[in-house]
Amino acid sequence: MSSTIRRADGTKPCDSCGELVLWAVTAASGKAIPLNPSPVDPATHGRAFVLIGGVAFGFVAAVARVAAMFDEPEAAAAIRITQGDYSGAHHDAHFATCPKAAQHRRRRPTDPARTSR
Ligand SMILES: [Zn+2]
Repeated sequence: MSSTIRRADGTKPCDSCGELVLWAVTAASGKAIPLNPSPVDPATHGRAFVLIGGVAFGFVAAVARVAAMFDEPEAAAAIRITQGDYSGAHHDAHFATCPKAAQHRRRRPTDPARTSR
């Protein structure tokens, strides 16, 4: 799946559109998932993943994780996450914004157009 060289900041170009994406592993399935590198405001991106230590959590899973991290009730953890007041960040899945998202599910491009410079 991920053959392109990863950059120092953990991002690498999307195979489809060439935009830099940040690869993480989903807490739910352990599968790699590309995220948009720029954090988003959870108030307007309710479906964004919560990135904690390189692992992308859905909201419910993030609440449980943060509650354990801070040893506090899940209600408090939910507030902490919503306000971004913890050591993580919210990122949209790149699929949500990739202009060529459809190609992610079809086939991988075969031309090695982008050589590292
Ligand atoms: Zn893309």
